[in-house]
Amino acid sequence: MELTEYLNESVVHIFREAIRSSQFNIKELRFLHRAAKIQKEAAQRRRESDALGVSVPPFLIASIATRCNLHCVGCYARANHTCIDQSSKEEMSAERWGELFREARALGVSFVLLAGGEPLEREDVLEEAAKTPELIFPVFTNGTLFTPAMLERFDRHRNLIPVISMEGDRQQTDQRRGEGIFEVIRRTMKNMAGLGMFYGVSITVTKDNLDTVLDDAFILSLKEAGCRLVFFVEYVPADGNAEPALDEKDRAVLEARQGELKARCPDMILLSFPGDEKKLGGCLAAGRGFFHINASGGAEPCPFSPYSDISLKNGSLRDALDSDLFRKIRENHFEAQDHTGGCALFPQKAEIEKLLAEQT
Ligand code: SF4
Repeated sequence: MELTEYLNESVVHIFREAIRSSQFNIKELRFLHRAAKIQKEAAQRRRESDALGVSVPPFLIASIATRCNLHCVGCYARANHTCIDQSSKEEMSAERWGELFREARALGVSFVLLAGGEPLEREDVLEEAAKTPELIFPVFTNGTLFTPAMLERFDRHRNLIPVISMEGDRQQTDQRRGEGIFEVIRRTMKNMAGLGMFYGVSITVTKDNLDTVLDDAFILSLKEAGCRLVFFVEYVPADGNAEPALDEKDRAVLEARQGELKARCPDMILLSFPGDEKKLGGCLAAGRGFFHINASGGAEPCPFSPYSDISLKNGSLRDALDSDLFRKIRENHFEAQDHTGGCALFPQKAEIEKLLAEQT
């Protein structure tokens, strides 16, 4: 099956699962049915683009904030200095993000994953996302900034989907994210369940928490707390510490357990990143399935490959898809290389820096 059709099928599958898991939530169902219809049209636009030789990815990752209120151990964004304690003057304006969201909609993009730093530090950009209901925005948040007003915003604008980061149980989460953070996250989840909001969690999977986060009791505790979506994100040794990284055996366990948990919790959506990228001929970076936009507008192959030859402060998404760097990464099949840790491009820094140097 062509990659575009495979990814289109994946989007339809996510919506079918979300509708199934929201059977008793009228407000959410109304939103999901409308969104599923809109996504069919977006998939058709991607097919038409493909026929014209322009592959439009269904996903974008947008790191909209440089600021974060936490100091998590091994934070990837702090390790590469894209996350700091105050907002960078280089951050793109909310208006410019709004324009890019509207361009993404016109191109046929389905999901824009919002990340950071802490994305809730950019309420102005969240407002622009709320104004683009045709796009779905999974918001990867540390879950500690959900004031009543913020909860009300997400409740009203159901295309903003909270995805709360956690590391496993209380001890594992507090050890990495700070004392008491697990309690704050559980309170946020309780408030969201109280409002009947569709929300998820994102777990960075390492050798240390693999058994905990794949345990029936852990997943059932999330389900009982009203969580409907779990992202298992494979650890990337950003700060050079490869010890906790999963090996092939661990990956096989992750894939097998995911299947068993899916059978046990049919009304939960369980996704893993990068998941079984091999089935798709390698990683989906550099526009194959997604690309990353950093907080100052740089179009990058992936959050774990922070290199760019085009700025979206004035360039278009269409230009980025056509950028020399993305094209050369795709043409040289960097995405298909074997690798340690959850990213194919991360270990290929030198090769990508060489590609960039050749452009100057
Ligand atoms: S919440 Fe996210 S961005 Fe903030 S310090 Fe933790 S890992 Fe880094």
